[in-house]
Amino acid sequence: MKLHEFQAKDIFRKFGIAVPDGELVTDINQAAGVTRKINGPPWVIKAQVHAGGRGKGGGVIITNTPDQAVSSAKALIGKPLVTKQTGADGVMVHQVLVEEGLEIDREFYLSMVIDRSTAMPTMIFSQAGGMEIEEVAEKTPELVLKEHIDPIAGWMPYQARNLIYKLDPPLSSESVKSMMSAMASVYKVFTTFDCSLVEINPLVTTKQGKVVALDAKMSIDDNALYRQKNLVELDDPREKDPLELMAEKHNLNYIRLDGNVGAMVNGAGLAMATMDVIKLAGAEPANFLDVGGGASEEMIKNGFEIILKDSRVKAILINIFGGILRCDVLARGVLAAAEKTSIPVPLIVRLEGTNVDQGREILKNSDLEFLVAKDLSEAAEMVANQVSGAS
Ligand code: GDP
Ligand code: MN
Repeated sequence: MKLHEFQAKDIFRKFGIAVPDGELVTDINQAAGVTRKINGPPWVIKAQVHAGGRGKGGGVIITNTPDQAVSSAKALIGKPLVTKQTGADGVMVHQVLVEEGLEIDREFYLSMVIDRSTAMPTMIFSQAGGMEIEEVAEKTPELVLKEHIDPIAGWMPYQARNLIYKLDPPLSSESVKSMMSAMASVYKVFTTFDCSLVEINPLVTTKQGKVVALDAKMSIDDNALYRQKNLVELDDPREKDPLELMAEKHNLNYIRLDGNVGAMVNGAGLAMATMDVIKLAGAEPANFLDVGGGASEEMIKNGFEIILKDSRVKAILINIFGGILRCDVLARGVLAAAEKTSIPVPLIVRLEGTNVDQGREILKNSDLEFLVAKDLSEAAEMVANQVSGAS
């Protein structure tokens, strides 16, 4: 689960990380009033969407008068914002953050993630802030510094010094103190809220030597939400893909991808393998969908409906290995979904396992048009043939 910038900044404030003074605006008419309460000019108007790259995409506007603040809010709210991370259609902006504009001296990058190769929380720090960190890591890897953290010992002040004393030019002694405190707080936030990511880009020093988080990104590990009840309220469903949202409601593991082969599979491992085989056959999966090992007829129906709602899907592959999930249950679920809507694309079915004969029989005796594959590689070939030419 992702938080908005303004939500993450509220948390930062409580944990002693300095952020610019600011207020959320959902109604364009509030913008002028807010500028009167906040230090400025300048004021910075920032689109609140779950996507980065807003600066380059026109989602961050620096303004010098209350009137400009209003017109900037008007230019953002209610319109889609396209950034490098949103795709061509962009994402709808529902609200903006109005903040005091600061005089930036230097821009840094600071984040905390779990490094999967060492299985340790890791702080990443760079003096090349404000830019995309992936690009910095590629072009100037020596500027990306890391500290792995022993989760028992926690964040240690010497680790902050390891990072900060590599800076060239060095920081002023006042900024060193604030930077050390910001780093310790980022670790605190990360562990307190079961984050998978805390990212500040840029973390700036101002002309006055203060260390301030100009941007804030927080992602919470979904598996920990049961013990982060206060954060669940901050969830903004408007930011999610509607199909992913629907899948979430039905307890299905569904992730939208960029291809055009819809896939319905039981078991995460089999779903991964199916996507690999689809790719090997020269096609691209439109989704990852694991209906689960013990899916009910209802879940199959919901899963199939979600795939059918995806207009990019040009062929569907159902790959089920009936273990706990029986093939007859699968067949009935597919039919129940098909009854509600026509299936405008070719359907390829590969069934194996428990009650496979009954499952095949149910499908065969229905009005459903489908192709049967004898094994997984044939299924992938068939589905790739169906979409070749359609892109
Ligand atoms: P992102 O592009 O979505 O990551 O949005 P950011 O919050 O990082 O803002 C993009 C850029 O806007 C920053 O890197 C800054 O250069 C600039 N910016 C944001 N706030 C201020 C501010 O208060 N003063 C100044 N001068 N620039 C700002
Ligand atoms: Mn940023």
